[in-house]
Amino acid sequence: MNVWVIAETPALATELVSGAKTITNGAAEVTAFVGGDEVAGKQVAACGAAKVTVLPLLANAMWEDYTSALVEKAKAEAPALILVGSTKRGKDMAAQLAALLDAPCVSDCKSLTADGDTKTVTRMIYGGMAVKTQTTTAPTVILTVAPKSYEPLPEDAANAGSVDVMAAPAASTVVVTGREPKVVSGVNLNDAASVVAIGRGFVEKDEMKLAEDLAKAIGAEMGCSRPIAEFFKWMPEEAYIGISGQIIKPQLYIAAGISGQAQHISGMRDSKIVVSVNKDENAPMNAQSDYYIVGDIKEVLPALTKAFSER
Ligand SMILES: Cc1cc2nc3c(=O)[nH]c(=O)nc-3n(C[C@H](O)[C@H](O)[C@H](O)COP(=O)(O)OP(=O)(O)OC[C@H]3O[C@@H](n4cnc5c(N)ncnc54)[C@H](O)[C@@H]3O)c2cc1C
Repeated sequence: MNVWVIAETPALATELVSGAKTITNGAAEVTAFVGGDEVAGKQVAACGAAKVTVLPLLANAMWEDYTSALVEKAKAEAPALILVGSTKRGKDMAAQLAALLDAPCVSDCKSLTADGDTKTVTRMIYGGMAVKTQTTTAPTVILTVAPKSYEPLPEDAANAGSVDVMAAPAASTVVVTGREPKVVSGVNLNDAASVVAIGRGFVEKDEMKLAEDLAKAIGAEMGCSRPIAEFFKWMPEEAYIGISGQIIKPQLYIAAGISGQAQHISGMRDSKIVVSVNKDENAPMNAQSDYYIVGDIKEVLPALTKAFSER
């Protein structure tokens, strides 16, 4: 099956290559389009793409400007599937591709089965609380896939496919006149093995120290629910977890004073071990947890910190 993957970064492209092979049970012949340079392209090829085309980010153009060239190529090569990384840019490009190719676009795809011309796709809805099944007979289907959905295959130089570089896109009416790096907060939830996340169970900002002490004792990164970052502004936006924030997959996730609404669960449901600390025994987060402690954060967190510090 001829499958394309499109991603801005080699890290995401390697995940999508793995995803393409997984959802097609290994039947995908993968062509990858990746942002970056030839080094990035070679990395993606070594992770299983048969062909890689690099889409360099140019000084005066947007990465999305490559869409027209991709549409022409897709018309010529008719891929059965196009997997696009579900980032802000990726979602934008997926929608444009779908409109210009007159192809269906299924967002947040989780699985795919093909039976003759019929493709059946499942996707998460209601913030990850339900799964919807959709079928299509369209010859090309566009799927957006959330980052961290698939583990990249190990790099193997012997598998290296061909790498070329796409010609610069035609001039667009939108011209990039400058780029400024975003001020980074230092929060790096994506690579964290353990995360201690706080929610509205913390009433005063000073109480954050209880969670910070625990995070320090176990070497965890701090995260939060959306209200803590967006409304209270106690933590940067990059620190909130959920459907509209970060999607993370740590080994250990400790949710302190977080109720566990669907929008939050969407961002941490793939954590390996989940621990909830909540004074309400019926908090939905408890049902999502491997372990839960019913109690007040002001008593439970210092006890956990002490226990971990003494180990
Ligand atoms: C379109 C949309 C997108 C959204 N996206 C996100 C998202 O990406 N991420 C996200 O997090 N939210 C998101 N939300 C908000 C979400 O619906 C919830 O409102 C939010 O997650 C609740 O945050 P919380 O659990 O911190 O607060 P609450 O729901 O108020 O829960 C606080 C919890 O703390 C417990 N508690 C209180 N005091 C203590 C104490 N002393 N000790 C122990 N426990 C205590 C309570 O029992 C309760 O369970 C979104 C909402 C919408 C509408």
